Amino acid sequence: MGQLIVSKFGGTSMGDAECMLRSAEVSFRQGSSLIAVSATSGTTNDLIALGKTAEAQVWPEAEKILTKIESRHRKIAEDLQISGESQKKLEVLFEEMNSLAKGVYLLRDCSTKAMDTLMSLGERMSSVLFAEAMGRVLTKHGSTKKVELFDVRTVLRTDDSFGKAKALTGEIATLCSQHLGFLRDGKRVVVTQGFIGMTEDGFTTTLGRGGSDYSAAILAEGVAADVLEIWTDVAGIATTDPRLCPQAKPIREISFKEASELATFGAKVLHPATLLPAIRKNIPVFVGSSFDSEAKGTWVRKDVEDHPLIRAMALRKKQVLVTLSTPEMLHAHGFLFQIFKIFNDHKVSIDAITTSEISVSVTLDDSTLLNKKLISDLSQIAEVQVEENLSLISLIGNNINHTPGLGKQIFEAISDINVRMICLGASKHNFCFLVNEDQGAEAVRRLHECFIEAGTEEMG
Ligand code: ASP
Ligand code: MG
Repeated sequence: MGQLIVSKFGGTSMGDAECMLRSAEVSFRQGSSLIAVSATSGTTNDLIALGKTAEAQVWPEAEKILTKIESRHRKIAEDLQISGESQKKLEVLFEEMNSLAKGVYLLRDCSTKAMDTLMSLGERMSSVLFAEAMGRVLTKHGSTKKVELFDVRTVLRTDDSFGKAKALTGEIATLCSQHLGFLRDGKRVVVTQGFIGMTEDGFTTTLGRGGSDYSAAILAEGVAADVLEIWTDVAGIATTDPRLCPQAKPIREISFKEASELATFGAKVLHPATLLPAIRKNIPVFVGSSFDSEAKGTWVRKDVEDHPLIRAMALRKKQVLVTLSTPEMLHAHGFLFQIFKIFNDHKVSIDAITTSEISVSVTLDDSTLLNKKLISDLSQIAEVQVEENLSLISLIGNNINHTPGLGKQIFEAISDINVRMICLGASKHNFCFLVNEDQGAEAVRRLHECFIEAGTEEMG
């Protein structure tokens, strides 16, 4: 029996009829059995704008957005010459979109719950079209496999944190074996939606922006797939962002641990949560470009052949450093607990941390997380200082905390750039530090030159 492959195609791979057919060719060649797709490129943003303008009572603007979304999908439908049945499905979705927008307009309220249903239309529309593209490609190749359009909400059970719902892994596994147990017989190609799920009570949820990768990984875990393929518009994961540093090279292979650090610390190719299900079930993940499927792409897996000291680096902009100081911390216990409790109460996630005897500094990913109430709560227990316009640079590799001289090499390469905070020690795969935002890109270029371009490691 062949391998069970779950694939995901992102928004740009769904951009128009041509993109869809190209992506369908890729999944045919790979032999994918379950394909999760994103909304067509730009549609999720449009749906969010639709919800917001309808809520703000700007109906003519909302109507414009409705027309834009509809025409985009009608054009693809026409180019693919879809069946009457699929056309009907699409019309039903258009109607739902119009009614939902009108409802939001009348109620002047677009709650996260309403927004999730509205956003789900993007993936529900694109999957109808992609199923048609897939069917065309199978017929063209004389395949006897049947395409089945599957509503992922049947199996993708989540909690009710609308806007960023949590997948309920146990329930999903049971539902997958009930509803998708036939996948291994290899007779059907199932096309479904990324990004969306459903609560036990039947409310539609979404997994957070860019969540289709994560959906595909959850499905791969649910059906116990052999391989998870993430098809996007770049040929895999690069040693750093090529827009920052043109010398960036593709990485052929990277371990789960390194890739998790890389995704969390700024590389945009994979949604940070994607690897969790793959790691839990030890499912190798391939990241490739649907536009250039001959390019080698990147394999992310548990065991890899080479273990370079520095394999990749990432830059995360718009970081905020919050420093809390109080003499009460001298020899006291429980101070960190109090601080973390406050961040936890505000559901704000902390990334890097350093401490001294009477101060603690933490970094946050986004200044909008830092609301007045959070600062006032923190001010109850310590003096609070906030610094913005910082960038976090992370070097990802192996044995980082056991390599003499590494720090010297790093800081010599950027000796004229001030380093505001350093985090080292917790992981042998990550060394990260903060610099001023306007020096971040330069620092990455120099470090890339020092560790990757000049390195002896063969990445390609
Ligand atoms: N369509 C969703 C978004 O744009 C999910 C995804 O593309 O992964 O965020
Ligand atoms: Mg996307």
